Amino acid sequence: MLLIVALVAVVAAGGVFLFVKLTQGGGEEPTVAEPPVPTSVAPTTVVPTPTKKTTTTAPPKPVQSVSPATYNATHRLYKTGAMRTVNCKQAKTGPGNGAQALAYFKTIKACLDRAWPRQVAAAGGRFRSPGLVVWGGTVNTPCGSGPGRSFYCPTTHTIYMESPSVVSFYKQNPTFGRMVGSFTVAHEYAHSVQWMTGLGEAYEKLRYDATTDGQLLLSRRLELQASCLGNVFLGSNRGSYGITGYAYQMWLYDVNNSGDRPPYPRDHGSTTSHGAWSRAAFASRNPASCNTWSASPARVS
Ligand SMILES: [Zn+2]
Repeated sequence: MLLIVALVAVVAAGGVFLFVKLTQGGGEEPTVAEPPVPTSVAPTTVVPTPTKKTTTTAPPKPVQSVSPATYNATHRLYKTGAMRTVNCKQAKTGPGNGAQALAYFKTIKACLDRAWPRQVAAAGGRFRSPGLVVWGGTVNTPCGSGPGRSFYCPTTHTIYMESPSVVSFYKQNPTFGRMVGSFTVAHEYAHSVQWMTGLGEAYEKLRYDATTDGQLLLSRRLELQASCLGNVFLGSNRGSYGITGYAYQMWLYDVNNSGDRPPYPRDHGSTTSHGAWSRAAFASRNPASCNTWSASPARVS
């Protein structure tokens, strides 16, 4: 669930290449938003009706109507149609420091809160706006402290945005920093969509029975789907949000260079895979482009 953006950032002014590791700490106090109470979504189960009311034995356990693999590969989310634009506008002030990053992330999250409810409902899920916490250094959550990386935690249904790395990118190249910050919020928000629609729960079930390599493959399917769905949103709002011209080039650089790099495990997908799913979703604006669960292993390498 961690988005690794290990990026070789091109600093446009001067064309200097520099490798930026997103593991630097920060002295910022995390800003805590009240997370909503998590509710589990169990769309894969049907509850059988007991045949006798006088029986003293426990009723049979719910039976899965389809396997979690089939559930994710045939999900209704892929049939919800192209995402309609919500005419999202980027915040005027960029993420130049922790407080500005919070405001910047809040602006795009408000757009995501308007964009996803129709799609989630059409997919059979129940929409609940996820929480947003912006932090630096470390953060205390049931999903860990995630040093250096933004993540979504299903237990709290909250997005934890790590701001120092985005601020650092912004200071090097404001347009690139805006695109990295926007894409990261959209990616983490997409994880919340996965959990609102049962895709996340099915992933957890699959993961439980998988080998180590199998778990990495499942993780890549989950992560590449999150980037794909995040770019469905960005693509559907590209005009109003201003992902055109130079900003488009910086967005493209971000998605083409995000992915697994040593020493990180192969849990997010190669930069090639990441770019391919991201570009397809940005162009189609349709979750139908994001069925990573039925894709061949080569496409989610
Ligand atoms: Zn992720």
